[in-house]
Order: sequence, then structure tokens, then C-alpha cells
Amino acid sequence: MTDPTSAVASAPNGRHEADLLIIGAGPAGLYAAYYAGFRGMNVAILDSLPEAGGQVTALYPEKLIYDVAGFPAIKGQELIDNLVEQAAPFNPTYFLGHRAEEMTHDEAAGTVTVTSHKAMAIVCKAVLITGGIGTFTPRPLPDAEEFEGRGLRYFVPKLDALADQDVLIVGGGDSAFDWAHNLQPIARSITLIHRRDRFRAHEHTVEQVLESPVRVMIHTEVARIIGDERVKAVEVFNNKTDEREILDVQAVVAALGFTADLGPLTRWGLQQEKRHIIVDTAMRTNLDRVFAAGDITEYDGKVRLISVGFGEAATAVNNAAPVIDPSLKLFPGHSSDQP
Ligand SMILES: Cc1cc2nc3c(=O)[nH]c(=O)nc-3n(C[C@H](O)[C@H](O)[C@H](O)COP(=O)(O)OP(=O)(O)OC[C@H]3O[C@@H](n4cnc5c(N)ncnc54)[C@H](O)[C@@H]3O)c2cc1C
Repeated sequence: MTDPTSAVASAPNGRHEADLLIIGAGPAGLYAAYYAGFRGMNVAILDSLPEAGGQVTALYPEKLIYDVAGFPAIKGQELIDNLVEQAAPFNPTYFLGHRAEEMTHDEAAGTVTVTSHKAMAIVCKAVLITGGIGTFTPRPLPDAEEFEGRGLRYFVPKLDALADQDVLIVGGGDSAFDWAHNLQPIARSITLIHRRDRFRAHEHTVEQVLESPVRVMIHTEVARIIGDERVKAVEVFNNKTDEREILDVQAVVAALGFTADLGPLTRWGLQQEKRHIIVDTAMRTNLDRVFAAGDITEYDGKVRLISVGFGEAATAVNNAAPVIDPSLKLFPGHSSDQP
């Protein structure tokens, strides 16, 4: 199946219209995209990251999750793939790599316009903010921008993409070690470099990697990436001895962590508490036509879990339905009754 999120949306004049705009393609946003499609809404979904999946894809795609209802255990990325597939029949339009910057209301027209940092204006009848902990940006590998997408990557949502390649993983945390462990049977060779001699990853995974054929180099950093069209090799150096070595690799996975920034969302006049958006029981924010769900919401008793985000997404979308089209009811009916 082709990846439904891969078609980077483009729109004439940088303007797109939708019934519902979802800001944030993490688990809550993706489930909301399904639910809104089920309710007959035309949906746009926007995320600052180049991949759908939010924290799950960015931080723990290979970890097993045990507390999603109906799945005794499911890998993070598999859950995200399933969510994308569940929404796909309703053809949501994905704007990946777009950070929501500005929001304006047109009360007379009954619309809200959200503009991304790439000047894409999405005009909609309601907005659902599923922004998690905010704009989530991978810490960049210094001076390597030109190789991004040409051998240098910050995510590995599909391990097969690195089959039979020589891979350099940069980092000493959970993502670096999870990828080293899981890519080991798939890649031709793996070298993991870390600038310190202590790792921040789960002890058991570190042991597994150290006992595997993965080459682990401590006190080691990237000096430069060598290549033209694509990565061909990487020069690394020991930050204690300045000893240098050229590694022949075709892929570099930089797992240097992420920075999260609520940034633009804080400027829209939303009522907030400790970097979260206050919602009522219908997931309404204080702004007309603007709802929120998932990790970003705050109310008494809030629990930040995927399963809770799913419930909030369904509540938010169904409450947005009569706002978008007054003839629609709150209760959606049962999906099992649909043809
Ligand atoms: C290591 C780890 C393990 C975890 N394990 C579990 C577990 O076992 N079970 C469980 O239930 N939960 C677990 N969680 C928590 C779970 O991942 C979160 O509860 C869940 O991801 C929240 O989903 P969300 O859709 O609300 O937000 P997120 O997953 O944070 O997604 C929000 C998305 O919004 C985007 N965004 C934000 N602001 C903007 C903007 N202005 N413009 C465009 N895009 C924007 C971000 O880029 C991001 O992709 C774990 C978390 C971590 C870090």
C-alpha cells in the first residue's frame, strides 16, 4: 500500500479549504482524522514533523506498547501505521513539515484560518489542536543540513528502508540503541558513535547492542559527512585523542533527541495552564470553533496517555460536528451500523 501521508499536499495560491483542520499528527490527531472522516467531514491534518506519528514515531517506534485497548502488545510504529490506514479511506489531506504559526477568526464567515510557516493558509470551519508537547523538532547534526533526505535522517519509521546498507547511528539514548538493536539483522553493518562514555538508554538494550556485531565507539563525534548526491562516508574523531577515521556508510541516523516548543500556540489567546490548553468536557477551548485533545489538554484529573487521547479525540470531533454543520447531531451512531 502506498503511504497515504506521503503525498505532500500542495494547493493553488497556498490556500486550502477543509471542514476540520487538525494540528498535530500524533496518535490523537490521527484518530481524530479517522473520526472526522467517519462523520463526513473534509479533513486537513498538519504537522511540523516530516512524518506522522508524533512522540511515538519520533521517540519510540520500536518499543512495545501494552496499554492500548484491544492490543495486548503493539509496536509503536505499527500502531501509527494502523491509525494512518484507519483514516485513509476518508482521504485526509496531510501537510507534513508545516508548523502552524498563525490563527485568525472570521466571525461573519464562520471560519478559522491557520497559516503555516511555509505560508500555507488552511481555511476551515473548526480547528482541533492535538499538538502534544508542542512543535517537536529533531536536534540537528551540525553542518549536515545539505545531506538531510540524502542519506542523513532523523527517523527510521520503516527499518527496511536501511536494508543492506552500512549505517552510522549518532547518539547514546533510547532511540539510538533501539535502532541499533532493531536494524542489526537488517542493515549490512552498523556503527554507533556517542560523544560520551555513558549511555542514557535502557540498560538491557545497551547490553544487547554491546553483545551484538554493532560497533560501538565512545568519545566519538562526526567531523564531516563526505558525499555528493548522497552520503558516501563519514569522518569521525575521538574527542579525547583527536584520532580520526573514515567510515564508509550510506546512511546516517542522527538520534540526538528532540526539542519541544509550544511556541506559536501560546500566541493565539488560548487559555493555558503550565504549557497545556484548558478544555471543558466537550474538549472546547476558550476560543470559538477551536477544540483540543490528547497530551496538550488540561482539566482536573487529566491523564496523559494514548488511550485517553483517543477518547478525547472522539469527543472533540463529535462536538465539532454540529459546529461545522448545524444539521449534524452530537452522537455519531455506531460504526458497526455503517454499510
Ligand atoms: C518514551 C515514551 C514512551 C511512552 N510510552 C507510552 C505507553 O506505553 N502508553 C501510553 O499510553 N503512552 C505512552 N507515552 C506517551 C504517549 O506517547 C503520548 O501520550 C502520546 O504520544 C500523545 O499523543 P498526542 O497525539 O496527544 O501528541 P504527540 O504524540 O505529542 O503529537 C503531537 C504532534 O503535534 C505536532 N505539533 C505540535 N505543535 C505543532 C504546531 N504548531 N504545528 C504543527 N504541528 C505541531 C508535533 O510535531 C507532534 O507530531 C510514551 C511517551 C514517551 C516519550
